Amino acid sequence: MRVNLPESYSPEDVSLVMRAEEFATNAHAGQKRKSGEPYIIHPLAVAQTVADWGFDAQTLAAALLHDTVEDTAVTVQGLAKEFGPKVAELVDGVTKLGQVDFNSEGTNRSHENLRKLLVAMSRDLRVIIIKLADRKHNLATLKYLNEEDRVRIAKESLAIFAPLADRLGMGRLKAEIEDAAFKYSEPERYAELSRELSAYTKKANRYIAKLREFITSKLAASGVATVSVEGRPKHLYSVYKKLTKTGKSIDKVYDLLAVRVIVPKESDCYQALGILHQYFKPLIYRIKDYISVPKPNGYRSLHTTVFALEGRITEIQIRTPQMHEEAEMGLAAHFFYDQQKLDKKQPQGVPKNLQWVGQLAKFEGEMKADFVDMVSHDLFVDRIFIFTPKGDLFDLPEGSTPLDFAFAVHTDIGLHAMGALVNGKMQALGSHLENRDVVQIITRRSAKPTLDWLNHVKSSMARSRIKSWLRSQGIEPANHK
Ligand code: MN
Repeated sequence: MRVNLPESYSPEDVSLVMRAEEFATNAHAGQKRKSGEPYIIHPLAVAQTVADWGFDAQTLAAALLHDTVEDTAVTVQGLAKEFGPKVAELVDGVTKLGQVDFNSEGTNRSHENLRKLLVAMSRDLRVIIIKLADRKHNLATLKYLNEEDRVRIAKESLAIFAPLADRLGMGRLKAEIEDAAFKYSEPERYAELSRELSAYTKKANRYIAKLREFITSKLAASGVATVSVEGRPKHLYSVYKKLTKTGKSIDKVYDLLAVRVIVPKESDCYQALGILHQYFKPLIYRIKDYISVPKPNGYRSLHTTVFALEGRITEIQIRTPQMHEEAEMGLAAHFFYDQQKLDKKQPQGVPKNLQWVGQLAKFEGEMKADFVDMVSHDLFVDRIFIFTPKGDLFDLPEGSTPLDFAFAVHTDIGLHAMGALVNGKMQALGSHLENRDVVQIITRRSAKPTLDWLNHVKSSMARSRIKSWLRSQGIEPANHK
């Protein structure tokens, strides 16, 4: 067998993967990649990625078989007979996604395609996992394609697959996809910036070494052990975005360096933060506690930006090993941990912080025509966190209003909203909420939606609820976007 399997696999798991590998090898016999290598290299690489992420044997078998329906005489029915309905379904899902053309913007076809992606994702996230692993290998071998295909795949990866990896909390994959795609989406800028960044890194190395030493010894002196302290520049594409956004050159931007301090326990994180602030003055607005309030994709860590040694402004991230694993691996880490916990049970559950994915399936039935626009918008814009007065957290698209929040809490609260207290002050239902606002909705039984409400909501959920209520009253909201 040519795939290294996770140790947790049972003998049946191993035999399923072996059969899939043999089947795929025979099915692709004689086919070649653009690189001239035997085609089977590709499904093997995809399967290895999925195995490294710790996924189950069905996902791995489906990864090996993922191109057989598209590129050979094999059928979904044939796979079902050979490997069972679940593996066949996964391959079918990946095949359908493969036919998606994400670039034909604005046409019905691209909407239909994006719809397929979202629906496949909400049915079984493992389809997306295989697709992401497939994309990772295709990006790694992009140089063998012609220029037009290279640029198209690179841009599509930046527009769709990197944000998707991010939303699934897969930080490492997101960075890999972005850097691999950037190389082909803007080859000249990429080359120039890699040169600049490597010169910058060389200069920064001595500083980083000193800082590591300083942090490790100061924490140890205060009784906080460190698992590791590492510093490095951020990945190339995020540097590129930063420079583009600020219009500055590389030596004028201060937060290109991130130092990551890994400590054993959650309580150590806060202790370490306190100790470091005794030595380094923090930029006060840049202390972020993503441990008590994780990002919507599950990311947890403490961030602080400080005047460190030599007065250099440096970002420090403090987290435990498990938080680190989850930040890098995201969904994959959750599946992995779940798998260990559940011991052999199929890890199909969606982690709590990714439940928004499950909501997509519900939206689908309700919205039809507007569905794709709305959901893809929600999926790819930035999110803000809004609290109830009791501290419950809701994750909404940036630019959301108290009305969006009302519908997120409960449809009935939305339908009868008449006012909102934002951080204790009365605000209009259509006012803009800021990250971490505390919002209380005031309702009245006699209050009800009007057409105008559609101008004051941002989330697809609120929009669809208002529209369906209006329709139930015989009001046609068709002209309102
Ligand atoms: Mn493929």
